Amino acid sequence: MIDSKKYRDLGTSIKRKENKRDHFILQMMMDKEWFNSINFCHLTQEEIKEWQFKRIKQIVKHAYNNVPMYHDKYSKVGFHPKDLKNWKDFENLPILNKEEIIEAFPDRSISKKYNFKFTTRSSGSSGKFVTIVVSSEAIYRDTIQGARQFFFQSGGNYKPDDLALFIYTCPWWVSSINGKYKTLFYPTTTKIEEATNIIKQIRPKILSLYPTYLLKFYENSVPLKEYGVDLIIVHSEQTSSKQRLEMSNFFKIPVLDEFSSEELTRIALECPNKKYHLEEDACYVEIIDSKTHKNLSPGNQGMLIGTNLLNEATPIIRYFQGDIACIDMDNSCSCGSNFRTIKSFSGRFMDSIVSTYGEIIPASCFMDLAYNWYLEMNIPIHGLKYQIIQQTDGSIDINLQPKQYQISPIDKIKIKNSLYQLLPKDTTIRVKFVNRFLDTGSKFRPIISFKEKK
Ligand SMILES: [Zn+2]
Repeated sequence: MIDSKKYRDLGTSIKRKENKRDHFILQMMMDKEWFNSINFCHLTQEEIKEWQFKRIKQIVKHAYNNVPMYHDKYSKVGFHPKDLKNWKDFENLPILNKEEIIEAFPDRSISKKYNFKFTTRSSGSSGKFVTIVVSSEAIYRDTIQGARQFFFQSGGNYKPDDLALFIYTCPWWVSSINGKYKTLFYPTTTKIEEATNIIKQIRPKILSLYPTYLLKFYENSVPLKEYGVDLIIVHSEQTSSKQRLEMSNFFKIPVLDEFSSEELTRIALECPNKKYHLEEDACYVEIIDSKTHKNLSPGNQGMLIGTNLLNEATPIIRYFQGDIACIDMDNSCSCGSNFRTIKSFSGRFMDSIVSTYGEIIPASCFMDLAYNWYLEMNIPIHGLKYQIIQQTDGSIDINLQPKQYQISPIDKIKIKNSLYQLLPKDTTIRVKFVNRFLDTGSKFRPIISFKEKK
């Protein structure tokens, strides 16, 4: 979930009130599916792939027959759903991007079989919004997978009577599963003192929030563990594993990452062993070469392409939302999940820095480098108070917020020189102290690149 990680993009769901029928259906699905749902990750990779292909065939057929955008897109390349016989056929389908969904909305992007009962929006790079219609089946299944997420990330230590608190942009459609697995929502605009009081009173077991909001709890030394919090899940903004570890050591609570988006739902979740497992029954992930668009084998970094396996109302098939990632060659993990794993997220393609030789260097490399400034210069915490911006001409500005550096004076030359570990010597780099960072909307982006990528 990577502006640069990915990121439930500023989700402004149009809320409909939950009702008895929702909970009746959810309960029925729980009774029928919970056991299989939590054990799906224990199937073999072949069994998982077989299930995925069956589901993908249904979705592609549905999209072709009911969504004009796909009918036109696929007809243009001479494809018909009956041609979809193996993975190669699927991998030859054209890639979908955000602007195409924006352009096709509403008449050409929504399935004829669904109405506008549930919609969700996320921001596009052009500032326009992508609106997705979600089927009620997808919402229910997503709700169950939400409970499963906490079960998985807590290592099985999440029970029906436990409470989860979300500090997020908008609430989920239902607040429990028929009274169990209750969730509570507060907006990110909630003052830190108020949020602290709420946590003290309601004692949530799980806290799900933006890393920048967690940083506020850190700065105020809020003893979250004392207030009953057992697991912290961060999402929507990119953090490095080192930053999460440092937060985790401070709070004495595991801090794990969620990589998700409105369009693709849960893409990958960090397990208690700190490995990112793909959510194989929510989103099918492929990695492709950024130039040739050919599928890459595990161990190679490329564009992340996702297919939403839950929602048919606005089908999302082979979609590039802007992230770079790499699937691990060795997926074994002692947490027991057989879901494929990816190396920690590399960030958004558009925020990768381009060297003077045209080499594309992922945002995550710069985040790791920045983390070393803090270690080497004896600054206690935290890696979020900088921004590295590559301008259109390729030059780089490192912006630092001075009041964060109280222990020792900041060594600008040392910081500047450290970047040459990643970049050629002829790169122009400026280090500046700023009072404000570049506004990137609701989510903080530590690495930004305006340089065009070829
Ligand atoms: Zn694992």
